[in-house]
Amino acid sequence: MVAFKTLDDLDPAGKTVLVRVDFNVPVRDGKVSDPTRIERAARTIRELADKGAKVVLLSHFGRPKGRRVSEMSLKPVLEPLRAALPGIAVAFAEDCVGAPAENAIKSMQPGQVVLLENLRFHPCEEKGGAEFADDLGALGEVYVADAFSAAHRAHASVVGVAQRLPSYAGRLMQEELEHLEKALENPERPLMAIVGGAKVSTKLDLLVNLVAKVDVLVIGGGMANTFLHALGQDIGASLCEKDMAETVKDIVAKAKTANCDIVLPTDVTVAETLKEGVETQTISVKNVPADRMILDLGPETATHIAKRLESCRGLTWNGPLGVFEVPPFDAATNTVARRAAELTEEGRLLSVAGGGDTVGALSHAGVLERFSYISSAGGAFLEWLEGKDLPGVAVLQRS
Ligand code: AMP
Repeated sequence: MVAFKTLDDLDPAGKTVLVRVDFNVPVRDGKVSDPTRIERAARTIRELADKGAKVVLLSHFGRPKGRRVSEMSLKPVLEPLRAALPGIAVAFAEDCVGAPAENAIKSMQPGQVVLLENLRFHPCEEKGGAEFADDLGALGEVYVADAFSAAHRAHASVVGVAQRLPSYAGRLMQEELEHLEKALENPERPLMAIVGGAKVSTKLDLLVNLVAKVDVLVIGGGMANTFLHALGQDIGASLCEKDMAETVKDIVAKAKTANCDIVLPTDVTVAETLKEGVETQTISVKNVPADRMILDLGPETATHIAKRLESCRGLTWNGPLGVFEVPPFDAATNTVARRAAELTEEGRLLSVAGGGDTVGALSHAGVLERFSYISSAGGAFLEWLEGKDLPGVAVLQRS
């Protein structure tokens, strides 16, 4: 983990500060349907504006592939952004470089904000183009990185600008990095990781990295089927990656060497088809009929995981334990998530979760606000779990 400068090290008064945010929010019929990301980013923006900075916001939106696509304009963000920053003037520039951006910035007063149009309307953003980074960098005097969710991309606005200007982590970036550091780099032990979700193949690097770092690794979801099959269990008609058997054995061997205890299901909930209200059975993993699918971990396994959690000090969670979208196959995820939330509230556990469907599953379990930290970053959180260096974080290394 890099040592980085934060807003505590910066006096932004009178300076033009470029802030890389992530306003890649869901938009329906031209309106932002979930402004959470905008509201979360408001903290850094407000702090800078209150300290007298001219705050220039850089963000991507969608995948316009280097072309100006009107449906992918950042304009719909303006209204919820203004709502999140009451009392602060927020303007919009029709382009993120050139005359529109320069003119908008020229007419700013300290304490004001301007949002620049989608960075990805320019092909050089995603290519990390040097000239484009020069043009962006020339717009301001200081750079603040506040988009952890984009930190796994070596894009011009993530890395190039940070290389050209004095750079600082914004409050969101700081919060994310500090929690991740506590969760996995420098944790209190014992440490449990829960990895669920559909497939082993999409989470290989992550499993290999976690096995070396945690004391207990719980495997749930569809990937538990792949583990059970590789270790000789019959898993009926369940989702399973049979070609991953050797890889799974290799992970199990690595875990043994690293003294990491792998927890697999002992009982499971099965059904003939995947639909709500379908007849289910809870059975031992040793007795899965050929025409049944494993769709959730069983109650015995869920209780066992929840119990083991009681002796742990840290938890990192990615991926649901079952098909949580279709009740009752949300049961194991709910049981474990709620126990983790209770232990967190009792001050006995540092719980961190994130990536893809995990936020949805924990929200469904009603524990989103009760975990120590939920990462809103998808890909970047996963790459961090894989132990990879994130270019947008590495570039913040304190010089
Ligand atoms: P991932 O994006 O890899 O974390 O996978 C999340 C998906 O895995 C969710 O949509 C779950 O419905 C699915 N999933 C969880 N458990 C199972 C299972 N036993 N069989 C099939 N799919 C599952």
